[in-house]
Amino acid sequence: MSHELILTGGRVIDPSQSLDAVTEVGFAKGKVSGIGTNLKRDPQTKIQDVKGFIVTPGLIDLHTHVYWGGTSLGVDPDLYAKKSGVTTSVDTGSAGPGNFPGFARHVIAPSRSRIYAYLHISHAGIYGFSRDVHVGESEDMRLMDPRGAVKVAAEYPDEIIGIKVRVGRHASGDQGIAPLDVALDAAHEAGIPLMAHIDEPPPTYEDVLAKLRPGDVLTHAFRPFPNSPATAQGTIKPAVLAARKRGVLFDIGHGMGSFAFKTARAMLANGFEPDTISSDVHALCIDGPAHDLVTTMSKFLCLGMDLTAIIRSATETPARAIKRHDLGTLKVGAAGDASLIRIDDGDFDYVDVVGEHLAGQKRISAHGMVMRGEWWG
Ligand SMILES: [Zn+2]
Repeated sequence: MSHELILTGGRVIDPSQSLDAVTEVGFAKGKVSGIGTNLKRDPQTKIQDVKGFIVTPGLIDLHTHVYWGGTSLGVDPDLYAKKSGVTTSVDTGSAGPGNFPGFARHVIAPSRSRIYAYLHISHAGIYGFSRDVHVGESEDMRLMDPRGAVKVAAEYPDEIIGIKVRVGRHASGDQGIAPLDVALDAAHEAGIPLMAHIDEPPPTYEDVLAKLRPGDVLTHAFRPFPNSPATAQGTIKPAVLAARKRGVLFDIGHGMGSFAFKTARAMLANGFEPDTISSDVHALCIDGPAHDLVTTMSKFLCLGMDLTAIIRSATETPARAIKRHDLGTLKVGAAGDASLIRIDDGDFDYVDVVGEHLAGQKRISAHGMVMRGEWWG
């Protein structure tokens, strides 16, 4: 096998293969073509020296908003990808059935980085979200569009990997949990998973969890009180443990209002790590407190979570959540995506959504990517 590109000298951490070693990774024809020491060089093989860096499978941010220009909360996907070493952004509900074709044509198709989408059950996605305007798209049941969602999901099987719904006092108001029932019905009909957002009650954390199926994702899982997964005594609510046992996935989705150190400390102290670490990056949190995926990962590193587990939660596990098994791994034959990160030592100030500061001594920073087998530095 001849390799078009070889990353050499880096520490390769790929949890999908239980691999943590200084070795080489080769790429050809857009895929991973080899892994091991002293991969065979051809005269035309491009060699990228990545000594001093960690090579991971391409990072997947399971919760982003990248419908730039189509919704006010969208950020530019390729600028974001480069900023944070993210090769795959999963947009969660920016678009609904009424405006998804524009997202597919104007943003997903021309982007260099990969974009997948959870399609919102609400007709126009998250359309009323800015510093000055807050209209919950799940507040009005007239906007619920299960027929449209199933139709559009069938028309875009390469892009749409699930259905999104937002329920909570801010997102669904007086409708409470009702939009979740509509979204579940559509996800079931389309045969794809669901991602549910929660904010403040109603509905309660427990009420939402009780409805989710194995493989569905609860995002904003480590949110602050009210609707925290932890009790005031620092234990985990029994419904949370039961849902994990059933196969429900717990996603971070940091964002502007959905991640608290206090919650994370309680969960980690009980041995409950998130399944997936994601940023919920959007226009109102990209300059803080969420910033991006590597900053969210850094917070977990400073809270004591193991580096390999952190990498798994942004590679192998989100790939499984979106059922794209050629992503999130550097196995030979997998998609040719890799990320280059580094652990920096120093004094770093981290802040959560309630304004608590954490003085950290570590930072995960992003330094380049391989995208479909090509170096993207
Ligand atoms: Zn979001």
